[in-house]
Amino acid sequence: MNKGILDKPESNCGIVGVYGDKQAAHLSYLALYALQHRGQESSGIVCSDGNDVRRHMAQGLVSDVYADPKIFNYLQGHIAIGHNRYSTTGSTHLINAQPLLLTGKDGPLAISHNGNFTNSGKLRQQLEATGSIFQTSTDTEVVAHLIARSKEKEFSAKIIDALRQIQGAFSLVMMTRDRIYAIRDPYGVRPLCIGKKGHTWFIVSETCALDILRAEYVRDVEPGELVEVSENGIRSLEIDKSQKRHACIFEFIYFSRPDSKIFNENVDKVRRKLGKNLALEVPTDADIVISVPDSSNTAAVGFSRRSNIKFDLGLIRNHYIGRTFIHPKQNMRDFGVRIKFNTVKGILKGRRVVVVEDSIVRGTTLKQLVKLIRQAGATEVHVRVSSPPIISPCYYGMDFPSKEELIAHNKTVDEIAEFLGCDSLHYLSTEGLMNSVSQEQGGFCTACFTGKYPIDIENNIGKFQHETAKTKNDSY
Ligand code: 5GP
Ligand code: MG
Repeated sequence: MNKGILDKPESNCGIVGVYGDKQAAHLSYLALYALQHRGQESSGIVCSDGNDVRRHMAQGLVSDVYADPKIFNYLQGHIAIGHNRYSTTGSTHLINAQPLLLTGKDGPLAISHNGNFTNSGKLRQQLEATGSIFQTSTDTEVVAHLIARSKEKEFSAKIIDALRQIQGAFSLVMMTRDRIYAIRDPYGVRPLCIGKKGHTWFIVSETCALDILRAEYVRDVEPGELVEVSENGIRSLEIDKSQKRHACIFEFIYFSRPDSKIFNENVDKVRRKLGKNLALEVPTDADIVISVPDSSNTAAVGFSRRSNIKFDLGLIRNHYIGRTFIHPKQNMRDFGVRIKFNTVKGILKGRRVVVVEDSIVRGTTLKQLVKLIRQAGATEVHVRVSSPPIISPCYYGMDFPSKEELIAHNKTVDEIAEFLGCDSLHYLSTEGLMNSVSQEQGGFCTACFTGKYPIDIENNIGKFQHETAKTKNDSY
């Protein structure tokens, strides 16, 4: 295995599939636009007219990647899949952008992947030992090789055969010349749902992408399910339905859009409840509640309603920061916070302020913000976090650094408060967190808060994760 070009494991990304509209690529583009928050590094679309398969992909935001309308003259066909890759700096190669497109004896196969395979290193070594040559350094390519080697006859059976060998958290959309396959891992860690408009089927990471397409939400792809979309409609096949669901709770806390429904629940509703429960846990005497836009807006509204403290806009976020301002070094990261957020002095001056934040990873954002809020004249700054302390890295797709870099890994809440320079700090309890999500659904992965990993982690994955840590950048 060539570790030199090994990229980080595939992180949290946005994926789409469209079947049955002659503008499938254009509709995929719209869906990718709505899913931009799930990945800003690169974007790609592969489409098919039943015969020819074409791809366009490039680094950058969706608005840049498809800026030239001629791209859609080229991307002809009634079937398409797309992918937004999560942003990292550092070991980024266009060759690792997605959808991955390979041709084997069964014809072309395109894959869009959201999540992490946790045993891909071992599988890759085994495949390389028996002659496989890999084009990319992503874990996604491993699946393509396993499918190509499967002895099953039907293509869907080959996919199932391949995925039964894979461990990890993943949602996948695959495309052949005439079909789309949508898959969720047996634990259902990452979201993926099915939508429909007229005769057109859609597969998207989050429902906000269906809204932009004016498509109706049909249902989620179930954990351990493979959905085949063809001219005959959709067909459901089973990969492995024997596992207990472990949906990523961090999708609700931070990653998904509040206007989406994931895991059968509205993100907005859960996020408000996180804020409400946070307010109930420690009654706070203050004049205003502010959010750290945009990711904690909804939780801050929930906090404000329950605490009866007025919500106001004390921080303004600059939405136009390009990747130029993303720096991997700690001192530059501090600068990144200042370029991203500014204070509204008239709102903060002379006030006792509650700052609601969705999560603390390294503590960089909040340390800077507390300072800025004080400089703006706030008399007290109380930090309330709508999730428990993050003590363990995520091996299933969230871009969390190594243990050592997680501030809550080696500091107590009092020590973190001191580091942040705030008057008080409270994190939502695990009970408060679990009480915010529907109990009927049950089954969440909370490994980042508990260190209990539901899916086996390969020994060497920690190393990749550490590489990731050094390249972590943007946050919002
Ligand atoms: P910190 O500055 O503590 O390292 O990061 C905390 C901030 O990052 C919060 O504002 C939160 O909204 C955001 N955040 C949380 N998880 C992630 C993530 O996985 N990726 C990115 N880019 N930002 C995150
Ligand atoms: Mg944030």
